[in-house]
Amino acid sequence: MKIDRIETFILHVPVTRGIIKDSTFSVTHRSAPGVILHTDDGVKGYGFTGTQGHLDSDRLIVGAIEKCYGPLLMGRDPTEARQIWQDLYHHPPLQYVGRGGIMHLALAAVDIALWDIKAKAAGLPLWRLLGGGADKQVAIYNTDAGWLNWPIERMVDDALAGISEHGFVGVKIKFGSPDLLNDVKRIAAVREAVGPDVLLMVDGNGRWDYPTALRFCQRIRDLDVTWIEEPLWFDDLAGHARLARAQQIPIALGEQLYLTDHFRDFIGAGAVHFVQPDAVRLAGITEWWRVADLAHANRLPVCAHTGDMMQVHAHLSVAHAGVTMLENLPWMRDCFVDPVAISEGHLVKPTLPGAGTTPTDDALRRFNVLNS
Ligand SMILES: [Mg+2]
Repeated sequence: MKIDRIETFILHVPVTRGIIKDSTFSVTHRSAPGVILHTDDGVKGYGFTGTQGHLDSDRLIVGAIEKCYGPLLMGRDPTEARQIWQDLYHHPPLQYVGRGGIMHLALAAVDIALWDIKAKAAGLPLWRLLGGGADKQVAIYNTDAGWLNWPIERMVDDALAGISEHGFVGVKIKFGSPDLLNDVKRIAAVREAVGPDVLLMVDGNGRWDYPTALRFCQRIRDLDVTWIEEPLWFDDLAGHARLARAQQIPIALGEQLYLTDHFRDFIGAGAVHFVQPDAVRLAGITEWWRVADLAHANRLPVCAHTGDMMQVHAHLSVAHAGVTMLENLPWMRDCFVDPVAISEGHLVKPTLPGAGTTPTDDALRRFNVLNS
């Protein structure tokens, strides 16, 4: 089998819940800049990365796919996904302009498309190709509830609705507003409403400095918080390690770490307890698996960040032994032929061959803005 044509797309999809905010910015759209790898025997692989809908940078990503990686992919056997990853990541002219950032996001889309082809060619959903077991249960916690711009009543009602309608095992609440004590009040209100049996996580999106984060941890320490996510700036390895030593709440991070090397350093420094790799920010499935192995070997649970809107991570979470939970962030569910599904708080295992990345014809017609 050989790759004989490369096509790109940018799905630009409005978030249907209205404007939502975390501590850093507002989200109105979600983008999936991606690639279709065509092969000479007719199998098509779909892969994409995920962004916050900034179309100018989305165009740079698909430009990198077409102009930088495209010529290197033509004629290759797509089932050699790991070897192709090595060749593309270490291609000398390209490694000088980006071992992270746009080049890495572009490589994520390519790598995911390669694995989609491998799974389709084998006639298996990706989780089966990767050796996952049909009995593996992946619990789902809800990220799509605790937005910082929502009044406290709406936030509490939505957290409760998710638990009663979908059986989510936990809920994640944003923090990092200018009013720390109000953030504490919101989190306490959710704990009070959901009771002691539901997991409660909190997420600051890298907003605070060290003393503010430490004070916050001290204020919420009696609320049985499973983890505090990104309390400090994303790259601050020393700060996270210091915070981990100074208080009791476990630290989660990884959605803004773009390389295996970064995860190795954070894990080695004791700066993270719940590891949150994202295949669309790392360079695809190949690198995500390496990070998950690294975390698992250090006896740290893997709870993927779902910048792919869960489609690929549903497969990876079933397949990798280190995964305990997955986050609910399904803003593009209707765009896919095999949309992620949840039943009684757990992932429903995908059944169609592939990585879950094939968009519907309708989604490509309505949301592809590549040529507009
Ligand atoms: Mg987060």
